[in-house]
Amino acid sequence: MMNQKRLVEKDSPRTKDDLIVIAGAGGFIAGNLVLFFKKKGFKRIRAVDKKPLAEWYLRVPGVESLSLDCSQEDSCRRVCEGAVEVYNLAADMGGMGFIERFRIECLRSILINTHMIEAAYRAGAKRYFFSSSACAYNTLLQQDPKVRALKESDAYPAMAERGYGWEKLMSEMFCEEYWHERGLKTFMARFHNVYGPHGTWDGGREKAPAAICRKVIEAIDTGNDTIDIWGDGTQTRSFMYIDDCVKGIDMITHHDPLIATPINLGSSELVSINELVSKVEKIARIKLKRKYDLAAPRGVAGRNSDNTFIKKILGWEPSTTLDRGLSATYQWIKQQYYARKAGRRVVE
Ligand code: NAD
Repeated sequence: MMNQKRLVEKDSPRTKDDLIVIAGAGGFIAGNLVLFFKKKGFKRIRAVDKKPLAEWYLRVPGVESLSLDCSQEDSCRRVCEGAVEVYNLAADMGGMGFIERFRIECLRSILINTHMIEAAYRAGAKRYFFSSSACAYNTLLQQDPKVRALKESDAYPAMAERGYGWEKLMSEMFCEEYWHERGLKTFMARFHNVYGPHGTWDGGREKAPAAICRKVIEAIDTGNDTIDIWGDGTQTRSFMYIDDCVKGIDMITHHDPLIATPINLGSSELVSINELVSKVEKIARIKLKRKYDLAAPRGVAGRNSDNTFIKKILGWEPSTTLDRGLSATYQWIKQQYYARKAGRRVVE
């Protein structure tokens, strides 16, 4: 029976020699996760991404780095060989501009999770983590900027974000059933907008905090005193700093009461896009004229993370303030911007 309770067996404590596999490691969050585990002293980390190695945001020395496509079954088997823990953060994704336009690409990420979880199971991995998203929540609950924060039970009845959100919901279900039917310990976090250094900051896949930092930097550099804002700026969101995100992933994946249980991983500091722009302007010590592009993708009207559950179960929640996190992000993007302008390699 689907909801039959499984006995949670205690596994042997993890050791620094356990092989950790991290997919999507050429990207923002998984790249930072590799760095996090490396700094914690894990000696055997295998990182994988379909991007050529030269394009990874972060290359961590001493980590086995593979350029393979995880939507292919064979690659996943190779990648998961000998794995004790598997973290799947690979997905074809981007900010609103990307996920509203490329729904098919977003949906096709289902192949990555389908093959990765099966390969992890076959390899005898002890734990499997999947990066879900707040886009899995029912969009009907997000039509007002003054939203009530979303709690875990708000995903059903389902009316997820078209494309991207439905893929996340379906992949969550795979994770739940791999536990119920096959006993693979699976963990899922629903991330709410993550930002920080070593992420996408231009090219069309970047998210609001990085896009706004870049636009302010460009405005200063070019002497243009106007900033383009997508929508009317009243949309509200919460933004989680990357350090909180990787710490949360580790905590969630090693807390057995959370097996097969989606949980919010996000900040509960709600801001409007207008407020976000003001914060970046303050960091840059500039004031720009705002031009609102009402035809641009803007996503749901409001979204925030209800952290009641994570505080109760882990006694913790992401707490880096937006002011602190944005300031570090702004400095990093500024350095990347001028390095690129000077013709230097910007991915390092
Ligand atoms: P990212 O785009 O920086 O990283 C994803 C990486 O996956 C990319 O480097 C990409 O090349 C790789 N990838 C795509 N298809 C692949 C394939 N077939 N095989 C191997 N690698 C492949 O994105 P991110 O912000 O680091 O997101 C990581 C995960 O977190 C994703 O699952 C994303 O949906 C989820 N998430 C992110 C946010 C956020 O705010 N950044 C919010 C909610 C959920």
